[in-house]
Amino acid sequence: MPKAKYKRIILKVSGEVFGGKHKVGIDPLVLQTVAKEIKKAHRHNVQIAIVVGGGNIFRGISGEGEGIDRSTGDYMGMLATVINALALQDVLEKEGVYARVQTAIEMKAIAEPFIRRRAIRHMQKGRVVILAAGTGNPYFTTDTTAALRAAEINADVVLKATKVDGVYDKDPFLHKDAKKFQKLSHMNVLKRRLKVLDATAASLCMDNNIPIIVFDLMKKGNIERVVLGKTVGTMIVSPKIPRPRSG
Ligand code: UDP
Repeated sequence: MPKAKYKRIILKVSGEVFGGKHKVGIDPLVLQTVAKEIKKAHRHNVQIAIVVGGGNIFRGISGEGEGIDRSTGDYMGMLATVINALALQDVLEKEGVYARVQTAIEMKAIAEPFIRRRAIRHMQKGRVVILAAGTGNPYFTTDTTAALRAAEINADVVLKATKVDGVYDKDPFLHKDAKKFQKLSHMNVLKRRLKVLDATAASLCMDNNIPIIVFDLMKKGNIERVVLGKTVGTMIVSPKIPRPRSG
């Protein structure tokens, strides 16, 4: 079995992926495919924590237009991520991959609270940890959650799994001449205001020397390829600023 390039990763799966073609709700077939893909990567002895989005169910910002207070909407969005996390936990375990959901907002009856050292311990024991309820704070996103948790658990990389096969200079669905980047810096993502991930997440990763790989989750074998260090999607990386590491 080839050796993984990374010891520990954060995989960010956006809610839209769970929604499948319709982008809303949970498509059981897509969920199963995602679980199988995670399993393929996991067998290379890489420690995996997954941050799940909730956009397939609810986004705080869309609630605002419907008269729901932004903070309330954001809490609704965070709860949406818990629904996705529970679904993913279930299918992963059916695939034979042990998984634990940890939430940033306590809901003891259904999941563990997020405890950094405990999350690390689970991963060391071969369990996949699914991190739900975002950061626990409104006005943030699950991209930022992925960046924050990556710094906290000393992950080597953030894998942003989306429906696009990398970062483009403009929306590839709207512009035929959109150009894909192989590699770019965190600062470039910020300066060009690229919509691939939010600015808070990009700057948090930049300040903590965490590379981000943006890739298409639905292309078979992609998570495994990324984990093995093959060139897939777009790599966001900057010259290293020394940072203390532990754990
Ligand atoms: N959210 C939040 N704080 C967080 C993470 C998420 O308030 O730390 C809310 C926010 O309303 C967001 C929703 O949860 O729109 C779903 O997350 P996100 O939009 O990041 O999901 P994705 O786009 O990845 O499906």
